[in-house]
Amino acid sequence: MTSKTDKDVDVEVLVIGAGVVGIYALHRAIEAGFTALTLEAGDDVGGVWYWNRYPAARFDSESYTYGYLFSKELFADWKWEEEFATQPEIERYLNHVVDRFDLRRHIRTGQRVVSAVWNEEATSWDIATAAGETFRARWVISATGGLSVPHYPEIDGLEDFRGEGHHTGAWPREPLDFAGKRVAIIGNGPSGAQILPVISEIAAQVDLYQRTPTWTTPLNNAPLTDEKHAWLSENFEQIVQTLTSPANPTGFMHPPAGRFSTDDTPEERQAFYEQIWKAPGFGKLTSNYYDMTTNREANLEFCAFLANKVRSIVADPVTAERLIPTDHLFGAKRPPFIADYYESFNKPNVSLVSLRETPFVRVDATGIQTTEGHRDYDIIVYATGFDFGTGALTRMGVVGRDGLDLSTDWEDGPSDFAGFTAHRLPNFFFPGGPHGAGGGNYPRYSQDQVDWIATTLIHAREQGFDRFEPTAEHEAAWMTMVETLAPLSIFSAEHSHYYGANVQGKPRKFLLNPGGRPKLHEMLGELTETPDYGGAFAPVHEKAGV
Ligand code: NAP
Repeated sequence: MTSKTDKDVDVEVLVIGAGVVGIYALHRAIEAGFTALTLEAGDDVGGVWYWNRYPAARFDSESYTYGYLFSKELFADWKWEEEFATQPEIERYLNHVVDRFDLRRHIRTGQRVVSAVWNEEATSWDIATAAGETFRARWVISATGGLSVPHYPEIDGLEDFRGEGHHTGAWPREPLDFAGKRVAIIGNGPSGAQILPVISEIAAQVDLYQRTPTWTTPLNNAPLTDEKHAWLSENFEQIVQTLTSPANPTGFMHPPAGRFSTDDTPEERQAFYEQIWKAPGFGKLTSNYYDMTTNREANLEFCAFLANKVRSIVADPVTAERLIPTDHLFGAKRPPFIADYYESFNKPNVSLVSLRETPFVRVDATGIQTTEGHRDYDIIVYATGFDFGTGALTRMGVVGRDGLDLSTDWEDGPSDFAGFTAHRLPNFFFPGGPHGAGGGNYPRYSQDQVDWIATTLIHAREQGFDRFEPTAEHEAAWMTMVETLAPLSIFSAEHSHYYGANVQGKPRKFLLNPGGRPKLHEMLGELTETPDYGGAFAPVHEKAGV
């Protein structure tokens, strides 16, 4: 390796993370002819689909809309087993992609990045891993994900528990044996709600500890038939166009309702809600009435419909009422789409603990103490979510231009341009980061971002630029958009992880892109109107006042 004081680098593009986004970023970099390397903290590829290997983990976006769209052959050859694939199949798919496109030799696993420091003299980044390795790269693509730092509940005594305790986001590779065990699940977001129906089939006792009820609706999964596979292959181009069109705000293929709630009579609306109840996955949001998320009366009526569904499924009326949300409308928090969730509460070995009525006192060696009493457990499942959006980026020792320390700079909330670049972080991209995705299908958002990064790096090479940094004005314009549109976002409940509310001490700042894919494309399009991207390719640090 050459001296670290000159302009030479070990690789042109260094990708951090080998999840859905990192694999795609690596592929695009290699395909474009850059030298590239991926550092992955885990022992294998897969990212969120490697770590969240808990029983019943699966997509709730349709498999073929979540997978990669860059290769027609890949799309046609990988025959997803179900509309909503399970974690083992997803992990197999991601490994298949890595091998098929010969990416594995560019990936180093077991390499957790602990420091990433901008080197002004070398116009590059100096990266160090926990294993003591160092790398220098011209460009860094930090595909570290928004859901990669598990959040554990703040309950006294967690470390005293002598049974097994596992977070859904850091699940062990060896399968856990739940047969005959007493199990506590803390949390009823998509992870907790997915795991309950499956564990309760085999465990002796399962208690779900719920703080806030969610509007959980059925996933409505189905096997993918040969006919559907043939249809998908034949319609690849059209599917890609639908999913990636900048006008598609969610990146799904669900048919729109085509009308407002006020276009129908009350009877027609009830019939429509029955139809929506049977819609697959996010179709309950994206195929619902146009005004479902903007018209409070319409949403309240749909909530009343859902509440009656809960009452009709759950045999015990007290449990049913505890499961019905009273603090947020449908869609205001990210709703789980799960088969047999409410039905699980009719099993004799399942009970619901309402933490609003009987809060935690502590965890001890044998189980959990609430104000209601003590229960013994063999296993505690922490389905308590993640330090969403900023968790990984602020723990990676990122220091940008002029000593900008990301962990302190973002103490009051992240500030960025387009959700994946930031002023004073030259040559550093973080697709899938805060303000990156809006409500919808994550890989479609991150594909937009990675495609843009790849095009930008190719443009830089062609134009002879070796430095990219959005200006303070670019960042301010994006952040104004975020702050202006956040109250209008569908995920507007301020007590959700999309506002950082689940992590004690985290600032309550909106962490999604409330303008969605249309705004992302609009603002990136404006940036690329000039060859120097509105000054982003100039060495902005030399300009007075920045
Ligand atoms: P989550 O949505 O953040 O839910 C965490 C749950 O833990 C909530 O019920 C929360 O209650 C509870 N909780 C947190 N801290 C607690 C505490 N101190 N005491 C008691 N309860 C506590 O996390 P998640 O379920 O892991 O889902 C996170 C994201 O992952 C989702 O938004 C989704 O994007 C993704 N995901 C997707 C799928 C899928 O189907 N593809 C499956 C799983 C996850 P409160 O609501 O009161 O805060």
